[in-house]
Amino acid sequence: MTERPRGAALDSLLACAISAAAAGVLIHLRPTLRKPRPAPDARAWIEVSRAALRHNAAELQNLLPTSCRLMAVVKADAYGHGAIGVARELEKAGVRAFAVATLSEGIALRRGGVRGEVLVLGYTLPSEASFLHRYRLAQTVVDGAYAAALHAAGVPLDVHIKLDTGMHRLGADWGDTAALEGIFGYNTLTVKGVFTHLSQADDLSDEAADFTLGQIGRFIDAVNTLKAKGYDTGALHIQESYGILNYPGLPCDWARAGIALYGVLCKNDQTRLTPDLQPALALKARIAEVKQVAGGEYVGYGRRFMAKTPMKLAAVTIGYADGIPRNSVHRDAWVLLRGQRAPVVGLICMDILLIDVTHIDDAAPGDIVTLIGKDGGGAIRCEDVAESCGTITNELLSRLGARLPRIFV
Ligand SMILES: *Cc1c(COP(=O)(O)O)cnc(C)c1O
Repeated sequence: MTERPRGAALDSLLACAISAAAAGVLIHLRPTLRKPRPAPDARAWIEVSRAALRHNAAELQNLLPTSCRLMAVVKADAYGHGAIGVARELEKAGVRAFAVATLSEGIALRRGGVRGEVLVLGYTLPSEASFLHRYRLAQTVVDGAYAAALHAAGVPLDVHIKLDTGMHRLGADWGDTAALEGIFGYNTLTVKGVFTHLSQADDLSDEAADFTLGQIGRFIDAVNTLKAKGYDTGALHIQESYGILNYPGLPCDWARAGIALYGVLCKNDQTRLTPDLQPALALKARIAEVKQVAGGEYVGYGRRFMAKTPMKLAAVTIGYADGIPRNSVHRDAWVLLRGQRAPVVGLICMDILLIDVTHIDDAAPGDIVTLIGKDGGGAIRCEDVAESCGTITNELLSRLGARLPRIFV
């Protein structure tokens, strides 16, 4: 054993102290790095109201028979709201089942601590079946060949059989009993449910209602045929949001609510039941710069906007890469600043858009601009923004950018 000179001992003591201090800094920093940045620090962000989510879940649950439970559809990052935050909040409120579109969305929920049932509605490669098993995700099965391929993966899996009752998107033909029986025959696959999807439940016209009732009838026929043959069809589910609002009384075990859970409808339309839904999401950004432009000056790319008179403009730190549709400018888009309307001018850029604040006295850098949601007495509804961009709220919300922090309030 060599004796260390005192200087070296002191050095190593110092090194220890420094690394301990560094570790202290890291320990101190880690939680703030992980947490979404609080509103005052972000350039643009999404605010999600936990109270609104809980309220909407309760409102929708109240429309359903007591034996039918809500399955929260949290695909596409919960329609832009942030899937883990939404699912965890709803789990606290008593929701026990979730639906996602993809395997990776399902894995993200599990890694985020979600414990309820999770159903993958979309396609998972049979070569990835072991992940379904490992993360306890139920997989949708759409035909006999796919069931055979999943079975060949050799891991025990929970599956839900999707029936095509007329939409002709995904699903096994409702009338092909032999094919459906085949799916029940694989010993690695446990059928936990049977479901279908309605293509026109949002349309209250007689013609559309006839078609929807036809879909429902075919589903019930197929299930009864399977039950009569002794198969356990598990949990039955048919309705999406409009199915709940327009056909609430169906004999189902789950109802797959997406858009209505977030407190909005696809567009401004009528539904048979009109629960009090509260929009859960607000979209906000900040002003980076305020400037005066002279009359006759052009503004933005392509010189597409001309200030006819002297104007005061503000640059807002959000753009089409954050999910603001670039075409919204062609349809009289406006935002809220200090409770007042401010029109969007010029072409929307990737990260910035410009607004006219000539009439708003002390607009200043750092001010918060509301693009969806309430500000003072004013409000911008998601349905109106979607409609003015020629789309539906589902598309608008699900495309809100990944770089926007989701802040649960
Ligand atoms: C997306 C989806 C839903 C939810 O639809 P909403 O109209 O948003 O309620 C339900 N079921 C399936 C199969 C879906 O793909």
